[in-house]
Amino acid sequence: MEHTIQYNRTKIVATVGPASNTKDMLHKLAHAGVDVFRLNFSHGSHDVHAQVIKYIRENNEEQGHTIPILQDLQGPKIRIGKVENDGVEITPGQELVITTEDMLGTSQKVSTTYTSLCEDVGAGESILVDDGKIELKVLRVQGREVVTQVVFGGILKSRKGINLPDTAISAPSLTDKDEKDLEFGLANDVEWVALSFVRDADDIRDLKDRIRRAGKDTKVVAKIEKPEAIANMDEIISVTDGLMVARGDLGVEIPSEDVPMHQKTLVRKCNEAGVPVIIATQMMESMIENPRPTRAETNDVANAVMDGADALMLSAETAAGKFPLEVIRSMVRTIGSIEENFEDIYNKWHEPSPESELFANDNVVLTAARLSDRVNAKVLVGMTQSGYTGFRLSSHRPKAHIFVFTHNSRLRTQLNLLWGVRCMHYVGAESTNDTFKELEDILCQKGFLHQGDTFIKTASMPFHGQGRTNMLKITTVE
Ligand code: PEP
Repeated sequence: MEHTIQYNRTKIVATVGPASNTKDMLHKLAHAGVDVFRLNFSHGSHDVHAQVIKYIRENNEEQGHTIPILQDLQGPKIRIGKVENDGVEITPGQELVITTEDMLGTSQKVSTTYTSLCEDVGAGESILVDDGKIELKVLRVQGREVVTQVVFGGILKSRKGINLPDTAISAPSLTDKDEKDLEFGLANDVEWVALSFVRDADDIRDLKDRIRRAGKDTKVVAKIEKPEAIANMDEIISVTDGLMVARGDLGVEIPSEDVPMHQKTLVRKCNEAGVPVIIATQMMESMIENPRPTRAETNDVANAVMDGADALMLSAETAAGKFPLEVIRSMVRTIGSIEENFEDIYNKWHEPSPESELFANDNVVLTAARLSDRVNAKVLVGMTQSGYTGFRLSSHRPKAHIFVFTHNSRLRTQLNLLWGVRCMHYVGAESTNDTFKELEDILCQKGFLHQGDTFIKTASMPFHGQGRTNMLKITTVE
């Protein structure tokens, strides 16, 4: 197998769907530069997801890839029910009734899947349908019906999403469907699970409790797409393992012109906390239909890399688009151009918090990262049992290439979401010197290190204890 030191530090998350769910296409996408596959549980049966999981695992095994699976739970997504002819025209000024009773919708009355709509909304609030293309204003609530006036009309299609930007939703973050999907994901050992429409830190704590009770170590991504989540971002970041700026729903729930500032704030806060952050939705939207991105899309991707995102996500572009491979190649080229030419993304030293019980260990990692810059080290090695050192090393964005060694084969794939991290399996020697020599040999054999290269190793002594990183060593390859 061929290895190269050249690779993107900023990772690519690709959503799998009908355009990409064969074993061959998944292999080609991985080869083109995908780092994480996302399975969107808003679509697809468990049987189809199980088949995709099998293919991804087989490809990892056969090709030596370390691609994790991110299960994306739908959350309390509110939808319009079925409408006649699969689409009805509604015009500005007319009244439109939304009922919680099941019926085939007409241009005067449609149903919704959200049974608490009448309890939650009030007169004067906005109801946005189909990503805000259609806007309704609530006039009154009567029984099981909400009477609205159409502000912006158009063709209202079956099953389109509803957003309630002015309304506090009473539905729990984890719906009955999510519970079943989570059970399926955990049984299939997905490495990451994303929760949609998170409102506060308790949503994440609850999900983590469920994962712990199931005896799993799946890590959690909080999808930020509600105004409540924006208000509670600090507390959410303090409890989550990862975060997604889910710009699709966020840009409807809050004014879309406010999203860019929140994106930058969320990325900065996540970087400081060592929490990997994914930028999602419409990054390469036009490539669903076209073989090249627009200039604005290339700029959006480039700016997300400059902001300091860990990963960029593709949705319909790879799930249902006409050019899934081209979109990955295009993203790889844009990320590569910024990483090669924009030095500001590197060497972001984050001072550890003196309140943390790992303050001393965090300082060892920071020192190693700083040293790698001073001596122009080629490689920075971490050893981890829990993954923690991988998260810390990555957060400092060293220019040196980060290699993380672990005996935990699951962590090898899980950490692949993190900026710059490449993870290798290692079950090795007892003595520090023997281990470090072995790691050096592995990296030399794979072509990542050459004679004369400086590299820095961090580790926890004793090796097979449960401690955090507490030592570092600097070496030049002889
Ligand atoms: C989003 O809203 O941006 C998002 C990623 O969520 P989904 O694709 O599940 O709607």
